Amino acid sequence: MAIYNFSAGPAVLPKEVLLQAQAELADWHGSGMSVMEMSHRGKEYMGIHAQAEADLRELMGIPANYKVLFLQGGAHLQFSMIPLNLMRDKASADYVNTGEWSKKAIGEAKKFCAVNVVADNKDKNCSYVPAFDGWKCDPHAAYLHYTPNETIGGVEFNWIPETGDVPLVADMSSNILSRAIDVSKFGLIYAGAQKNIGPAGLTLVIVREDLIGQVAAGTPTMLDYKIHADGESMYNTPPTFAIYMAGLVFQWLKKNGGIAAMEKTNIAKSQLLYDAIDSSNGFYNCPVNKADRSRMNVPFTLKDAALDGEFLKQADARGLLQLKGHRSVGGMRASIYNAMPLEGVQALVGFMNEFARSKA
Ligand SMILES: *Cc1c(COP(=O)(O)O)cnc(C)c1O
Repeated sequence: MAIYNFSAGPAVLPKEVLLQAQAELADWHGSGMSVMEMSHRGKEYMGIHAQAEADLRELMGIPANYKVLFLQGGAHLQFSMIPLNLMRDKASADYVNTGEWSKKAIGEAKKFCAVNVVADNKDKNCSYVPAFDGWKCDPHAAYLHYTPNETIGGVEFNWIPETGDVPLVADMSSNILSRAIDVSKFGLIYAGAQKNIGPAGLTLVIVREDLIGQVAAGTPTMLDYKIHADGESMYNTPPTFAIYMAGLVFQWLKKNGGIAAMEKTNIAKSQLLYDAIDSSNGFYNCPVNKADRSRMNVPFTLKDAALDGEFLKQADARGLLQLKGHRSVGGMRASIYNAMPLEGVQALVGFMNEFARSKA
C-alpha cells in the first residue's frame, strides 16, 4: 500500500532523496565517511555546502547582493534575530497579523522594538488576507514583516506587498520553493527547513547585504547575521547533515523542472483538493476565503465533528497519514508540500468522496 504523509512539519521528503541519502549514508562518494562524520572545514563537506548554496541561488534566482545563510534555531529564533539586526536605530517596525505565526513573530519582536501592526484579519477569524489599500504602513519603519503562508490557518498571499524603501521581511517557512517569487522585492526571507526544504535543524535566511552589520548593542555574537555571512555559515559548526539533505532536495527540484514545474503541480494538487471540499454539499468545509487559500496547507472541517475520529482512523488505514488539524483549530489539515505527489492528493480526494458517500 502506498503511504502518503500529510504532516505540516517535519514533513514529507521526496522518496528519491531519501533513497539517495540511504545509499550514501555510510560512505559518501567513496570518501569512506558519512556526511555526518565529516569535518565542516574539510574539502568534501565544503563542496556539499557550496553546491547546496549554488543550487538554491539558481532555483530561486537569488541576486548576487543577497547573502544565503544556513542557520539553526528554527523560524522561532528569526522572530528575535530580525528586530535585533534590522532595527538599525529606527523607531519602529511594521507587522501584518494574519494568524498564529504572525502573532508569534509580533509577540517576540515586541521584546526588542516598538511594533506597529498595520493590518490584521481578526474580524473574520483570521480567514483572509487583508487588502493592501487598508494597511496603515509607516514610511519610516525599519522593515515590514509578514507571513506569506499561515501554516495553521491555511491563508496564503497570492501577491507581494509593495513597501517601497521599507525592506520587506517574509516568513516563508511553509511556502518557500513552492511558487516563483522575485527575491529582489524582499529585504529578508527566512524559513525553517522542515516543511518544504529538508529535515528539521536547519533554518534558511536570505538577506540583502546592505541590511546587515548594524546589529543592536549587546546582541549575542551567534545572533548577528553579519558574523554568519562573513563566516559563510561556518562561524560555528553548521547543521551539516541537514544542509546535505537540503542540497539533495535542491538537486531533486532542479531535475524535476525547478520551481516553475513545482508551482504548476502545486496549483493542480490544491485545486483538486479544494474542489473536492467545495463540491461535497457541505460535508466538508474550508473556512478560508477562496482567493486566499493556501496551496500548501489545506485546513478543512467535517460537517459533523463527531465523525472526526472515524475519518482519521479510516484515512490511516488507507495509508493517508497525519491529517489531524492543528490543536488550536481542530478539524483536519492536509499539508501538500512539493514532495507530496499528485497521486497522494488523488488518493486523499478519493477517500474523502467515499467517506462522505458512506455517511450520506
Ligand atoms: C513551522 C513554522 C514556524 C516555526 O518554525 P520552527 O522552525 O519550529 O521555529 C514559523 N513560521 C511558520 C510560517 C511556520 O510554518
